[in-house]
Parts: sequence; structure tokens; C-alpha cells
Amino acid sequence: TAVAPLLSVKNIEVVYDEVILVLRGLSIEVPKGAIVALLGANGAGKSTTLKAISGLLRTEDGEVTRGEIVFDGHRIDGITPDKIVRRGIFQVMEGRRIISDMTSLENLRLGAFTRSDREVSRDIEMVYSYFPRLKERTGLAGYLSGGEQQMLAIGRAMMARPKMILMDEPSMGLSPLMVKEVFSIIKQINRDLGVTILLVEQNARAALSVASHGYIMEQGKVVLDGSADDLRDNEDVKEFYLGGA
Ligand code: ATP
Repeated sequence: TAVAPLLSVKNIEVVYDEVILVLRGLSIEVPKGAIVALLGANGAGKSTTLKAISGLLRTEDGEVTRGEIVFDGHRIDGITPDKIVRRGIFQVMEGRRIISDMTSLENLRLGAFTRSDREVSRDIEMVYSYFPRLKERTGLAGYLSGGEQQMLAIGRAMMARPKMILMDEPSMGLSPLMVKEVFSIIKQINRDLGVTILLVEQNARAALSVASHGYIMEQGKVVLDGSADDLRDNEDVKEFYLGGA
């Protein structure tokens, strides 16, 4: 008997500015507790897919015009981004979008904005246990290195205690060593906290090293999907996404 996925995106079409068709019948499923990778070239529509799920699409004049998005048994397409956060989905934006003139600690507290419980301080310590460097850097977040800002953005998402985190290109702008470190922490967080992760990446190698399943997008549609192992062995994937290795 198949378990219902935590997230299912069913045949969605997305249009910007009422005329620019960007997603053309895209379907993906993310099982509870999994890490799933969404891969593809520049402009394939990966970021748009995440924004359709988090509701941030509407801040850019985008709209889901067909299909549906179901999360944890409820339709979420058409509801506002703050309600989607309250349902348990938190997006780590591309380019990280931390608040540079606030400290790391203030940024982390912001992540907990939907919570009213008293465990926020305890969770800050929990985030610091994954990212000890953030505790040492007490200055403004704008002075953190690229890798540290990425860690802060992930830490801020953890503070919301989401069921699911959407990550847009966590490897962007990071050194190979830092990519390794960040992805190993992503895997740990998934394992320790049971948080489900949908990961958008141009770095297919890094993404497939932590994901159990991957989707490959081209021009607003899924063209291939499979287990991370199968995708790594696929000749087309090797040639086009893994640098011919
Ligand atoms: P990248 O890695 O470059 O972000 P992507 O796969 O995430 O690529 P999207 O950013 O989703 O792709 O963009 C898909 C297409 O939608 C592109 O052709 C882009 O020009 C277009 N697009 C994205 N945002 C907007 C917008 N706000 N208004 C109009 N068109 C947009």
C-alpha cells in the first residue's frame, strides 16, 4: 500500500504577468521524511516551482493557472505565503536573503515568528549545535562569509520548526569544501529532525549525494525522474548534469 506523499504538485501551469507561461504541466511528489532534488539548467523553472509551493509567486506577479498543490492533505495553491508557513513549509531563498544589518541571533529569532511557544531559546541552542560558527560570530550578519550566511538561512528555517524546508540552490557561491559541509549538515538535519526537504540545485552531484530521489526539469516540465542512484548512473544525466564524469 502506497503512503500518501507529504507534498504533491499535480500538473501545474504557472504564468507570470498573465502571459509568460513558465511551468507547463509539472508534477512532483515528495514523501514524508525524504530529501528530493529538483535539477535542471538555468531557466528550466526550478525557482518558480518552489515559489509556487511557498506562495511567494504572487509577490512577483506569478500565478498557478492550472493543476493543484496538496500539502499534508490540504490544497495550498491560492493561499497566502504566511498561511503556508503556518501549515509547515519554510523556503530558504536563493541568494539567502538574510537581514544583513541584524545579528545572527536576531535573524534566527525572526525564523520563529509564527511560534508562540517558550522553546525558542532552546531551539537557538539546537541551531548553534549544528552551526557552532554562528554562535561565535556576534556581529552583523552582513559580515558573515557566503557559507556562514547560507548556514544562517538554514538555521532560520529550522527555527520555524517546519514540516518541510524548500531550499533554493544552497551551493550557490560556495567553495567546494563549504558545499560539502553545508550538504552534510542538510543530511543531518533531515535525519535528526525528520524534516522533509525539497532541494533545487544546479550542482546535481552535490544534490544527488544527499537526495533519495530526483526530478530533472527542462522548459517547465519534468523530463526524467528516478532514484538518486539511477539518475547518477543515467548516461544523459552524466553527460548533461554531471559534467561528463
Ligand atoms: P535559475 O537557476 O536561473 O534560477 P530556474 O530553473 O530556477 O533557473 P526560474 O528562475 O524559475 O528558473 O525561471 C524560469 C523562467 O521564468 C525563466 O525563463 C525566467 O526568465 C522566467 N521568470 C522567472 N521569474 C520571472 C518573473 N518574475 N517574471 C517574468 N518571468 C520570470
